[in-house]
Amino acid sequence: MPLSVKRPGRWTLRALLPWLVGILPMLLGLLILNWQAHRELAARAQSTAAQAVEHIDWIVSNLAGAAHSLLPLAGEPCDNAQLPLREVVTRTSFVRSTNLFSNDNLYCSSLFGPYSEPVKTDEYVDGTLRLMDGNSVTPGHALLVYLERNGKHGALTTADGDHLVTALRLIGSNTRLVLQVGPRWMGEDGQVHNDALPAFAEASMQLSSTNYPYSINSGFAAGSAWHLMQSEYPAMLGLLVFIGVIAGTACRWQLRRASSSRAELQRAIEADEFIPYYQPVVRDGDFRWAGAEVLMRWQHPREGMVRPDLFIPYAEHSGQIVAMTRRLMQRVAADLAPHAERFVDGFHIGVNITADHCQDPQLYDDCRTFLAQFPPGRVILTLELTERKLIEASQATDLLFDKLHQLGVMIAIDDFGTGQSSLSYLRQFKVDYLKIDQSFVAMIGVDALSLHILDSIITLSGKLGLGIVAEGVETVEQRDYLAARQVNFQQGYLFARPMPISDFLSATSP
Ligand code: C2E
Ligand code: CA
Ligand code: CA
Repeated sequence: MPLSVKRPGRWTLRALLPWLVGILPMLLGLLILNWQAHRELAARAQSTAAQAVEHIDWIVSNLAGAAHSLLPLAGEPCDNAQLPLREVVTRTSFVRSTNLFSNDNLYCSSLFGPYSEPVKTDEYVDGTLRLMDGNSVTPGHALLVYLERNGKHGALTTADGDHLVTALRLIGSNTRLVLQVGPRWMGEDGQVHNDALPAFAEASMQLSSTNYPYSINSGFAAGSAWHLMQSEYPAMLGLLVFIGVIAGTACRWQLRRASSSRAELQRAIEADEFIPYYQPVVRDGDFRWAGAEVLMRWQHPREGMVRPDLFIPYAEHSGQIVAMTRRLMQRVAADLAPHAERFVDGFHIGVNITADHCQDPQLYDDCRTFLAQFPPGRVILTLELTERKLIEASQATDLLFDKLHQLGVMIAIDDFGTGQSSLSYLRQFKVDYLKIDQSFVAMIGVDALSLHILDSIITLSGKLGLGIVAEGVETVEQRDYLAARQVNFQQGYLFARPMPISDFLSATSP
């Protein structure tokens, strides 16, 4: 509402709300992005592990092929076998050395020829694969050894750990990979360990080879999901901040508007700044004053006299209109009751009522209190309900309208023709008057279609036995047109403008 008085701010829930409204979409968005990033990491961990398994399977298959081709030589004297052992090393990728053993004793090696060293066959996982932390030639340097046996004889082939390290490092650059063979494991640093596997903070998973007895563990370091979000979704993060700021600002703006309007209206109610203006309604025939419509004005300390369409919508929205109308009716009674003898019996006083007010059972008491201040029958109170915001029929409203009718209060449908009230509606609420909207009156002599509607409304009200009031009458032509159709009452600038009580009383003084 563009009429507001600033008040000192307080750090209340209202002040916190815009922050909450701003932060909430950001948090939600971050959660979704974080979930998306974790899914992405899991997919990457899976595909990287699959690539690593494929590559290491290839290395091991070379070891296995070499061992298998040498198996027939196992048990043969080393002098005969030495050359084929070296040939296989030369011909087969990844193979660093080949060896033959018999009775768990390595007796022939491609490197040294005849040799003797115990073979710990029980340390081979599934009897075929072993990850070693070096041997006598290269102590502390990882080796992968493949064993194939035929009874007590067998062949051993080894691959240099550097091939494994290269695979672990190069495949999936950001993914952490670990090769696990039985109880031993090796990371990207090439060191062989015999203890518990390292746990990866994010997207940790294990993939076992289907061909050989080893597995690859993959995962990511802590904070990888956040890094991924920063590097891959910067636009989304920016958008989240943008949405958060917009939502927070919009909420703050809306709250400020609502709270300042409400506070300002409350202040004005307490200061009794809403006053009635009166616009006469003239009767058919002699056009003498037969009543008046009460129109609210705001006597604002700084803005002067404020039109109702600038503040009524806010008052309706905040529910304060009920209190304002109640106070207005008290003022009208106080204005007019002392001069009741000036009015003809049955002088109509129209008061505008909003739909919400009809849900308030106290409306009945307000009307009774109002009428009690006049001699019986002197005034007829008419409640004007705008057709644009008609109330829902319910048992409570039925009852209220019945009681109002018993009290002698009449019901008029205001702005008739602009909404869609049905005949059943008019009957249900036992409406007494239709107030033709001024837009139709303005079309007299201008627009044939609107005139047609106007004529239909007049005919309809006649058939339904409803009284009819035409508002917004500004010209003699309009007045005469309506008079020719026996419209019961007319209201408009032609007869009088809305006026303060002093003017109204002086115009009615005998
Ligand atoms: P409304 O109930 O249709 O009131 C008639 C409006 O038409 C009034 O405007 C009146 O001044 C204006 N009017 C009267 N004769 C003529 C005319 O010949 N030509 C033209 N152009 N206008 C004419 P106002 O007083 O500015 O009120 C505007 C609206 O504000 C009212 O329309 C009514 O809907 C609302 N309003 C006024 N007072 C109250 C109130 O106490 N309570 C509620 N709920 N609404 C009110
Ligand atoms: Ca009205
Ligand atoms: Ca109107």
